[in-house]
Amino acid sequence: MTISNAAPGKDVSAEDLVSKFPLAAKKSPDHVTRFSVRGVEFGGPLIPVMAGPNTVENEPMIVETAKAVRDAGGHILRGGAFKPLTFPYRSEKYFEPREQGLEWMAKARDASGLPIITEVMSTETIPAVAAVADILQIGTRNMQNYPLLTAVAKTGKPIMLKRGFGASLRDWLGAAEYILLEGNTQVILCERGVVAPHTHRGSSRFLLDLQVVPAAKEVTHLPVVTDPSHATFWRPWVQPMALASIGAGADGIMIEVHPDPSNAAVDPLQPVDYAEFASMMKAMDAVARAVGRKVLV
Ligand code: PEP
Ligand code: MN
Repeated sequence: MTISNAAPGKDVSAEDLVSKFPLAAKKSPDHVTRFSVRGVEFGGPLIPVMAGPNTVENEPMIVETAKAVRDAGGHILRGGAFKPLTFPYRSEKYFEPREQGLEWMAKARDASGLPIITEVMSTETIPAVAAVADILQIGTRNMQNYPLLTAVAKTGKPIMLKRGFGASLRDWLGAAEYILLEGNTQVILCERGVVAPHTHRGSSRFLLDLQVVPAAKEVTHLPVVTDPSHATFWRPWVQPMALASIGAGADGIMIEVHPDPSNAAVDPLQPVDYAEFASMMKAMDAVARAVGRKVLV
């Protein structure tokens, strides 16, 4: 086997590429995985934008958001139905829509024509989520839930693997290897911020690790995307970090969009509204074109 990178970074060795994650490892400099999700290609010149609310709050809001995302040029609708909420208490506003949220997502997909991505948190709920989702999301907290990874891989659906917020690149690629080992080759890696003692702002729990984008792309052929909404936890920083991600070589972007951001049921500090999203799409497209890619088609 020829390894393109004789001297990989400090946490990934040349030996790891051969014996720990041979399926995730890049075999030559131009080895890149490309695949399409209902017509949206990952790994090619397009930088797909996955956008929508944190949580699917009700049917009209997700249908309306889906149309706004589509009309602004967004490619894929995001929305959480099964949610890894940090605190266990629920209220009328702060809740997990679960199966009902999946039904609302399916309605939004039909109304907008956009493919959808949503999180799967447990093996029992895989059939319900896989019946609706075009891409299955594994959240940061489940990156190393190996039985879940193996079971999700077996659906044959594309999988977006969010990086654990304390995981090294080596751990992340090890987790991707569990999915690839099941014969599922449609894996997207998503950097969503890592924990750090210093985060620039009291409410910001994470730092977007922009450097991991080129670092990952040196050693793996899989598409690497970022989620600046979860990483920054702070609306004014989402656009700058989205643009920086594209400059750094990201193969896709996940953005939280909400019809009324400050009243979002979950994480109200991070979503942008429709107008901000539309202008962000144009800015992302301009940066993408400067690096030989595109966001708007
Ligand atoms: C999400 O995307 O809704 C989410 C919970 O993200 P993360 O797993 O990165 O916290
Ligand atoms: Mn969140």
